[in-house]
Amino acid sequence: MSNSKQVVVVGGSVAGLFSALLLSREGHRVKLVEKEALEECDSPVEAFEKWDRRGAPQTRHSHAFLARLHNEIKAREPKLYAALLEAGAETIPFTEMTREFFPDEELLPEDDEITLLACRRMTFDWVLRRHISAETDTEILSGVQVVGLEAHPDAETGLPRVTGVRVSRDQSDPLTLEADLVVDATGRNTRLAHWLEDIGADPLEQESESCGIFYCSRFYRLLPGVEAPTMEGPIGADLGYMKYAIFMGDSGIFSITLAASPDDDALRQLRKPAVFDAAARNLPTTSRWVDSAVSEPVTDVSTFANLKNTYRYFVREGQPLALGLFPVGDALMHQNPLAGRGCTMAWLSAQLLSEAFAKHPEDPIAFARALDAEVIRQVHPWYQTMRDQDRSAGELLREEQSGTDPYGFQREDGSIDPKAYMRSMLKDGLMPALREDITVLRAFLRVFNLLDAPGDLMARPDLMQKVLAVWQKREQRVPISFGPQRAEMVSTLEAAQS
Ligand SMILES: Cc1cc2nc3c(=O)[nH]c(=O)nc-3n(C[C@H](O)[C@H](O)[C@H](O)COP(=O)(O)OP(=O)(O)OC[C@H]3O[C@@H](n4cnc5c(N)ncnc54)[C@H](O)[C@@H]3O)c2cc1C
Repeated sequence: MSNSKQVVVVGGSVAGLFSALLLSREGHRVKLVEKEALEECDSPVEAFEKWDRRGAPQTRHSHAFLARLHNEIKAREPKLYAALLEAGAETIPFTEMTREFFPDEELLPEDDEITLLACRRMTFDWVLRRHISAETDTEILSGVQVVGLEAHPDAETGLPRVTGVRVSRDQSDPLTLEADLVVDATGRNTRLAHWLEDIGADPLEQESESCGIFYCSRFYRLLPGVEAPTMEGPIGADLGYMKYAIFMGDSGIFSITLAASPDDDALRQLRKPAVFDAAARNLPTTSRWVDSAVSEPVTDVSTFANLKNTYRYFVREGQPLALGLFPVGDALMHQNPLAGRGCTMAWLSAQLLSEAFAKHPEDPIAFARALDAEVIRQVHPWYQTMRDQDRSAGELLREEQSGTDPYGFQREDGSIDPKAYMRSMLKDGLMPALREDITVLRAFLRVFNLLDAPGDLMARPDLMQKVLAVWQKREQRVPISFGPQRAEMVSTLEAAQS
């Protein structure tokens, strides 16, 4: 192919694998460099047991794969889709999500778009890696670490023009891999800022702030011959002091994730298996799943602290920091994992990159500008939304802890506190509306699954009318309990510790 270019993708996790796949499909020659030496495994079960994945420890946590990613894979990579299902991945269609509250509602043809994929993250990566090896000419270099960039000043712009990467295996002397394009897919802890500094680029600007939570996940196996309990109520909930969810996996394995504030000392004990299980037994959705007659734990509790919402601005005012280089996936943007968006964002950023490169293979500045424009349009809004939601959640928690009613919107002087009013609208309007009105649920799930833009729900007056109508009946509704109050949970956890 005349426009075939040499590409080096750094990082062999989802964003790197997606980039390699999509760029190979465009006819480029791709080298995928991954610092971890991943042992060849014959099955996802073996990979789950053997792959350490220290470079991407979140692969040991619950993962949901959103409808947008499900649909892209199904439409564009049918063999990959089939391989995922063959490996035990399951689909969760809209019908399943509506069965409990809307059993008689007629569904729309486009509701098929709202279908999630359920499997363990390790299974997903194992299948994806094999697919790329079998279906593309990508050269996968495992156990090879990129230690820096090769670059020279571009004659026209004066910007550093990246011409390759320096790689090292087992601390040996670095070698150079030449490339027309380098893709940074090294995840949230990317060394991009240092690499850029080393080649004389301007500083990489980033925004980053805490999500206000830590994560604990544990995997369980259904006992032989035992059917998975039917799902009654939501797969997860936000209790304010703690968030929880149950995730369907593959091969009879499921996982539970509990998340709480790192400042909550009592809940930090959730990292201990006995305490974690006690919490899971004390929650309505998860209790039947962790019953010892139903399942057994197959892992310890994995924890993930220091979670952040981060965005890295590689292009500022139309000027990239370097030519022939771009970050994707978590290296570009990462956010609160509770939204389950990371792998879908990895796909999206890889897709935008491969499309921009197809348009401008010979013009690195046009490539960077075109890609940045799309990233700002399609990726950045999700970062902003999550950051703002986390800020609000933090404020709400602090008000609750200080004894203020965060939903009390009626001020003493008769005026309305707009922030509290909005919270009340979400808690007593939107949340119950998801169980009472299928149009609201559909619109909510479309945004949740990245099928519609983040602001689309609030921008529809018809939906807002419905939410308002539900909210106005809040006094008549019996509040639903998704779990115990914090004090009760803490005493359960303390009992489990002792
Ligand atoms: C606790 C937790 C739960 C999550 N749950 C979900 C979920 O439910 N759904 C979802 O979609 N997303 C979820 N995410 C987000 C998702 O895991 C990430 O968005 C995704 O893994 C990002 O992929 P990536 O390829 O960009 O980076 P990573 O997966 O972090 O991979 C980076 C790779 O680069 C390699 N690497 C690093 N440096 C070098 C180097 N110098 N040379 C060579 N290789 C290098 C690493 O070894 C690693 O393999 C979760 C994240 C966390 C933290």
